Amino acid sequence: MPITVIYGSDGKDMVRQALAHRRWELALDPHRTYGIKPNLVLARPSHSGATTDPSVVEGIITFLKDHGCHKIKIMESSWLGDSTTRAFRICGYEVLAQRYQVELIDLKKDRTVTAEQGGLQLEICRSALDVDCLINVPVLKAHCQTRLTCALKNLKGCIPDREKRRYHSLGLHRPIAALNKALPQHLVVVDGIIGDLTFEEGGTPVHMHRVIVGTDPVAVDSYCASLLGLGPEDVPYITMAAELGVGNTYCEVEELNEGRQSLFAPSQTADALKLHFTEAEACSACVGSLMHALYRLKEQGKRPPNSIFIGQGFKGKEGRGLGIGNCARGFTSSVPGCPPTARAIIDALESAIENR
Ligand code: SF4
Repeated sequence: MPITVIYGSDGKDMVRQALAHRRWELALDPHRTYGIKPNLVLARPSHSGATTDPSVVEGIITFLKDHGCHKIKIMESSWLGDSTTRAFRICGYEVLAQRYQVELIDLKKDRTVTAEQGGLQLEICRSALDVDCLINVPVLKAHCQTRLTCALKNLKGCIPDREKRRYHSLGLHRPIAALNKALPQHLVVVDGIIGDLTFEEGGTPVHMHRVIVGTDPVAVDSYCASLLGLGPEDVPYITMAAELGVGNTYCEVEELNEGRQSLFAPSQTADALKLHFTEAEACSACVGSLMHALYRLKEQGKRPPNSIFIGQGFKGKEGRGLGIGNCARGFTSSVPGCPPTARAIIDALESAIENR
């Protein structure tokens, strides 16, 4: 079945139209449990470009309910250091859940199951595995470590925090691909209304005015990568997932209406900021805090200090420079936290600049 693209800005209406066009009702069964996995990476509303617009999820919920499916759960685990419960509230999911009597599950508190896939032992949240039909609802965004974050990477919110750290120490791509093999998803609905082409955590939103629906996460990600001018080979977890049989990198695309079919260039800002530090196996939340701190500093016209180090690869190592996070505490000075806040990093950077 092709990927369906619909342009506009009313998430609920676009999703319902796309699902009706695909005759999704034929695949529904009122006896089944439906799990919806949005991207609530942190507690920031969708207009920031970081998180899934609740109106997109509302379109899915109302479509399910219209066809007699009432066993619906929304589940997520925000990134390291952020509270999913807070994200549910700030991002509008508490209100949504109350309105439609849908259960909210904070996967940070969930039990896990160990699965073996792609030569890796993977811990996966039980609730995500237990639903009959997993609906993945990512946001189309650029990512400073993997270049793209969309369907395949969004499942990283279905694993415990300790696994999120471990994925980074494993290089991120291979475990993401294996996770998608171990945790099947049945539908992907991409929120491409507002994304962010600089930061995964939002703050520099880009209006893209579209929703993209498909059943193959590899095909959806390949298509979304192409919108950013990237091929599947530019995002290694896409080709790795294809090799594991998760899906195909090519799929036909149908557009339901006319819209702004423009391509979007990933911003160069993140690449420029990355020149200021040395990274080894760093978690996304840690890098996110550092990137934001550097961004704020540059906005004020300040030149960041040299020799900044971040990541699990610096655990137990010593050296001259500024270490970011508990892992890099062995440097001359360091910012504690796992992850540290952007505010604490800004303070440390400013103090390093003053003492330069
Ligand atoms: S300090 Fe940063 S890199 Fe180290 S484990 Fe914590 S979040 Fe990850």
